Amino acid sequence: MLGLMQDRPLALPHVFHRAEQYFGHKSIITATATGESAMPISQWAQRVRRLATVLDTLGISADGRVGTFCWNTGRHLELYLAAPCTKRVLHTLNIRLFPEQLVYIANHAEDEVVFVDRSLLPLLWPLVDKLDTVRHYVVIDDGADVAIPDDPRVHDYEELLAAAEPFEGRFVVEDENTAAAMCYTSGTTGNPKGVVYSHRSAVLHSLISLIADGAALSERDVVLPVVPMFHANAWGLPYGCLMAGSTIVFPGPNMTPQAILSLLEKHKVTITGGVPTIWMGALPLLADHDLSALRTILCGGSAVPKSLSESYREAIGVPMLHAWGMTETSPIATMSTARSHHDSMSEAERADVRARQGQAVPLVDLRLVDPGSGEAQPWDDTATGEIQAAGPWIAAEYYRGEGGGAQFTSDGWLRTGDVASIDSTGFVRLVDRTKDLIKSGGEWIGSVELENEIMAHPKVAEAAVIAIPHEKWVERPLACVVVAPGETLTADEVIEFLRPRVAKWWLPDAVEFIEEVPKTSVGKFSKKTLREKFGGYQVAGPIEH
Ligand code: ADP
Repeated sequence: MLGLMQDRPLALPHVFHRAEQYFGHKSIITATATGESAMPISQWAQRVRRLATVLDTLGISADGRVGTFCWNTGRHLELYLAAPCTKRVLHTLNIRLFPEQLVYIANHAEDEVVFVDRSLLPLLWPLVDKLDTVRHYVVIDDGADVAIPDDPRVHDYEELLAAAEPFEGRFVVEDENTAAAMCYTSGTTGNPKGVVYSHRSAVLHSLISLIADGAALSERDVVLPVVPMFHANAWGLPYGCLMAGSTIVFPGPNMTPQAILSLLEKHKVTITGGVPTIWMGALPLLADHDLSALRTILCGGSAVPKSLSESYREAIGVPMLHAWGMTETSPIATMSTARSHHDSMSEAERADVRARQGQAVPLVDLRLVDPGSGEAQPWDDTATGEIQAAGPWIAAEYYRGEGGGAQFTSDGWLRTGDVASIDSTGFVRLVDRTKDLIKSGGEWIGSVELENEIMAHPKVAEAAVIAIPHEKWVERPLACVVVAPGETLTADEVIEFLRPRVAKWWLPDAVEFIEEVPKTSVGKFSKKTLREKFGGYQVAGPIEH
C-alpha cells in the first residue's frame, strides 16, 4: 500500500519563494572594500528574478553550468538561487586554486559563463584563452581598482540586471533529482573530482542546519558564514539561512581575523562558521571585541584542536561546535552537539567530547570498516577503521564517473578515506586521513591526534605532523611546529610536553620549527607541501625518548 501524501519536489525554488514571501523585511548585509551594503530580502529577491532572465538573455543552456568566482557576498547569493531555480547548475569555483586546476575544473564542468568579482579579475583573466567553453564573463563590480578588459565577452553585472525584466511567477523544478550545484574536491590526490548536488540533496541538507541538535538556525539568528561559498556551498549555511529567515552578514573580500571579529561585534552575530585556521588567527584578538551575542561557532573542515575550542570557551564562553564532512557529503555528516548523557561529565571530559567530530546527523548513516579486510568494526571507541557514509546528501558517484569508482563501495556507500573510532553512542573520533597516517613498525600513528596534543602547548601556534622514512620502523613522525609570536621553544620542551600525553612510540623523532604551516586552497594544513619540503628528511640526531 502506498502512502497518500502529495508528491511535491524538494527543490530550491521553495527556499527562494519562502524567503521572498516571509522574510522580505530581513537583511542581507555585505562588507565591501569601502564600507557595507545592506539590502532587504524583498529587493534581493527582485534581483534574483532579474538575474534569472539575464541567464536566458545570455543564452545559457537549459542545464548550463554557471560558474562563479566570487567572495562571500549578497550578490553571490543571488547567483546561488537564480542558477538552480532556472534549472541551471551553480558551479562555485575556488578562487584559491592553482591556475592549472581552475582551467581543468572549468573545462571539465563545461562552464558557459563565469560571474567574477572585479577584485578577482586579475586571477581569472589571464586564463580566459584556456577556458574552452566559457562564452561570457560577467564582472560584479565590488569597487576594486582593477581594469576591466575591453572584450566582447565581458559584461557588467549591474547593467545586465538593470536591463532585464524580472521573471514573473513561481520558479518550478519538477524533478527534485535535477542537478542544482556542483563543487570539485580540492584534488589532494589526482585530478579534482566533480560532486553534483541535486535540488533534493540541497534542500534536505539545508534543513539539517535548522535542527536543534545542530546549528539550530532560526529567524532570530544573525549568521556570518566565514567559510567560503566556494567551499562545499559554505557548509549549507546560505540556503539554511534563507529557509530559516536568519539575517545574513557576508564578509566580502576582507577575510582578516580583525575584519571578521569587527563584523561579529558590530552586527551582534549569533552564529558563525569557518575552518580552525580562521579561529586560530582570531584568538589573540578576542579580548578587543564584545562578542556577547555569539552563541555558536561552527567549525570543521579539519580537526578542531581541543585547545582551540577550550581557549574560546575560556575567553568568550563559547566553544567550537565541531562538525565533520567533506565535499562529497554536502558537507555536514556529523556534529558534536552535547547530549544529555554528557551532562554528568566533568568540564574536562566534556571538552574531550567537543574535540570529537560528533554523531551522525539525521538521515546520514555511518559504518566503520577495516580497510584491509573490509570487516565492520565495533563501535567501542577503541577499534579503528575507515568511515563509510550513506544518505540522501552523500555523493553516489563523481561527475562523468571520473577517477573515483574506488571511492564508492559495491553496496552504495561512500568511502571517506577518514580513519576513526566511534563510541557506543555514535560519537566519532577521527584519527587521521588514510593517506596521512604514519605507519611505524606495523602500527598506525594518527597524525591528527598527535598534532592536537602538540597544539595544546601554550607556546605553540600551529603544528602539523607528517611521516618521514625510517630504516627500521618504515615511517616515523616529524613534528613541524610554529611557535606562538614572541615565544621561544625547543624540541626537547615539545617532547617533554608530549611525554605524559601520548604513547612513547608516538613521540616524534624530530621537531622542525617553521614560520607557518602551509595551507591548502580552503585553509587546511597542506601536508602534501610539507611532505614535499621534508621529503628527504634526515633525522639530525636522535631525540632522547
Ligand atoms: P578535500 O578533501 O579536498 O580536503 P574537503 O573540504 O571535502 O576537501 O575535505 C574533507 C576532509 O576534510 C575530510 O575527509 C576530513 O579528512 C577532513 N575534515 C573535515 N572535517 C573535519 C573534522 N571536523 N575533523 C577532522 N577532519 C576533518
